[in-house]
Amino acid sequence: MRLVFLGPPGAGKGTQSARIQEKYDIPQLSTGDMLRAAVKAGTPTGLKAKAIMEAGGLVPDEVVVGIISDRIDEPDAKNGFILDGFPRTVKQAEALADILLKKKINLDAVVELKVDHNVLIERIERRAAESAAKGEAIRADDNPDAFRKRLEAYREQTAPVSAFYASKGALKAVDGMAAIDDVTAQINRLLES
Ligand code: AMP
Repeated sequence: MRLVFLGPPGAGKGTQSARIQEKYDIPQLSTGDMLRAAVKAGTPTGLKAKAIMEAGGLVPDEVVVGIISDRIDEPDAKNGFILDGFPRTVKQAEALADILLKKKINLDAVVELKVDHNVLIERIERRAAESAAKGEAIRADDNPDAFRKRLEAYREQTAPVSAFYASKGALKAVDGMAAIDDVTAQINRLLES
């Protein structure tokens, strides 16, 4: 099973990918996680990505395309994978198509979690206020300003990726506003059909 998960930040992609990962025993490949690991380790990629990520912008296409191309070649991704947070631009989607063609593999589905952006903003503002009240740290790019910027990047650069896959007949949409278990059930039905 080879899947792409699309949806804005905070839509629940990570939660749903983790469930599919377990069900199909395939790795969840999150470019966000890989970039955060690179930032933490202080690699050249991490140094390049840190400020962009903290401001809620997108890391250059060639950086994430290189990361994903290498990661797909790892032995644990041989029988499948879930791409979470990639592709985020049409350029990345086109690069992914080339990579898969060269590796002679196909995507089985592209799943989009559809959610109301205003509800996401309300949620993140509430969470930030609760964390601040408890004196807890929040992820640098989860502060409401950076989060708005991430949503804007999604609207401008990632929404066209949905259209890209829809034009190929590969896009399957799911109501991401439903309860977490209902969303999982919708995804399972899609993948089994
Ligand atoms: P995420 O955990 O998927 O929300 O990603 C966190 C941050 O990492 C994003 O706001 C971007 O700055 C960066 N990032 C993750 N994936 C990509 C990607 N495919 N293209 C560009 N930037 C990315």
